[in-house]
Amino acid sequence: MPKLAVLYEAGQAVLSTFDLDEVLQRILAIARDYFRLPNVAILLLDKEAQQLCVRSQIGWDAGKDKICLGYHDGITGACVLKKRPVYAPDVTKDPRYICAAQSTRSELAIPLIAGDEVVGVLDCQSDRIDHFDDETIQLLTLFSTQASIALQNAHLYSLERQRARQLEAINAIAQQSTAVMDLEQLLARVCSVIQQAFEVSHVSLLLREESELVMRAHQGTLTPCIPPGGRFPAALEPWSRVIATSGSVIESDLRSMPEPKRLFLESASRMSIPLISFGQTLGVLTLHSSQPNAFRQNALLQSLESVADICATSIQNAHYVERVKQLAYLDGLTGIFNRRFFELRIMEEIERARRYGTGMAVIMADIDQFKKLNDEFGHLLGDEVLRQVSSLFHQQLRKIDVVCRYGGEEFAILLTQTNTQQAVTIAEKLRRLVEGYQFPGVPRTVTISAGVAAFPEHGKSRDELIRAADNGLYAAKQAGRNRVCLASPARAAVSGP
Ligand code: GH3
Ligand code: MG
Ligand code: MG
Repeated sequence: MPKLAVLYEAGQAVLSTFDLDEVLQRILAIARDYFRLPNVAILLLDKEAQQLCVRSQIGWDAGKDKICLGYHDGITGACVLKKRPVYAPDVTKDPRYICAAQSTRSELAIPLIAGDEVVGVLDCQSDRIDHFDDETIQLLTLFSTQASIALQNAHLYSLERQRARQLEAINAIAQQSTAVMDLEQLLARVCSVIQQAFEVSHVSLLLREESELVMRAHQGTLTPCIPPGGRFPAALEPWSRVIATSGSVIESDLRSMPEPKRLFLESASRMSIPLISFGQTLGVLTLHSSQPNAFRQNALLQSLESVADICATSIQNAHYVERVKQLAYLDGLTGIFNRRFFELRIMEEIERARRYGTGMAVIMADIDQFKKLNDEFGHLLGDEVLRQVSSLFHQQLRKIDVVCRYGGEEFAILLTQTNTQQAVTIAEKLRRLVEGYQFPGVPRTVTISAGVAAFPEHGKSRDELIRAADNGLYAAKQAGRNRVCLASPARAAVSGP
């Protein structure tokens, strides 16, 4: 009767919940009580690491309750090797014995088998020499099948749960792609959804910009080795391979790789998946783990490739939206930003300069005697000169500066993180550049005049700064053109021919 009772109770425990740790603890408690065992444990086999690790235990000495053993070490290892129970009636006489509790005198290890494979070990230890008789060993072997069933159930259940979570993630991203149109917001969201759903240490999105990859967003717990917006050549391995083959790449151990290539300091393994839209690789989705060999599941890769497909389409959509938005801010003739954009950005730049104390400056530049140029060479050539001047300015300035056609033949330039003296130098450089440039079809010199005003010396608001720069421009014209003037109070010409 007690035999049936113990098996029945173990069966009930297995059916009671899907939580593996709870089931294992219940099974171990039943084994302890029925068989009067002070130390019982279930160890699981990690094939990849070739280890047996304690998953659940009762009565092991503190500090030994989380250990991993080589999977052929100890009495437990012998049982994995033989695929059948191994019994050490007196542990002091068994050279294979590894101590988990000082009081142990006899130990019985029973393999947990799923299908035809050993997946773990039920380890029973007693403080009496030769505690286990044949009948008890048989009964515990039957009993151990309940633990095997619990393991298989839990495994299936967690796979199911994982798939459900991943499907949810795909769904969430698909919805985001239509709801969120701002690219930055979308990229950040994609990273955080994937990081949570796929339970990885870190997720980053690298987008292609010509021959470079730019880290546009990342989310997770690791320490970045490159700054946000950091860029590196797309020709670097493994991304060159991801882009060239449009296939995913798994790197199982990054620990000896130089830091910047790892992207994140603690990244020990990585999976890189191409973002492909209409046959074009837009970038790379990378998943990072602080553990080596973290990425090896085919099912995971499949789910992630579907996620990457949706991301790529969303990114493409957001690009289009951005492009349309941009068109409203671009000047039709010259292709540089228009006045509307200038008005928007000057407010942002003033705010930034105020908050971080970084300084900023405005240059107002106007082509000299442009009416005459039109009269002499015709309106079409005049248009061409406007395009060329725009392009000269655009090429000469940094990417973070903003060059706008303010109206007619007048340009407004926003210089970020720039002080007065630097701004004057830049304006002077532009003046010389135009003066020295041979405009095709214009057999004479074309010149510009410019006024410079800097935050906060010449103004602290949009109106003050523009008025100050305008005054500088006016002064330059008054002083004979082809020169740069700093805004009042320093109204005098600071440079010129
Ligand atoms: P100043 O040195 O004082 O600036 O003299 P200016 O002739 O350059 O200035 P004014 O304001 O008298 O004339 C500007 C001229 O620019 C008048 C206008 O025909 C011309 N203009 C404005 N927009 C365009 C354009 O899109 N294309 C062409 N070709 N000319 C334009
Ligand atoms: Mg003019
Ligand atoms: Mg003008």
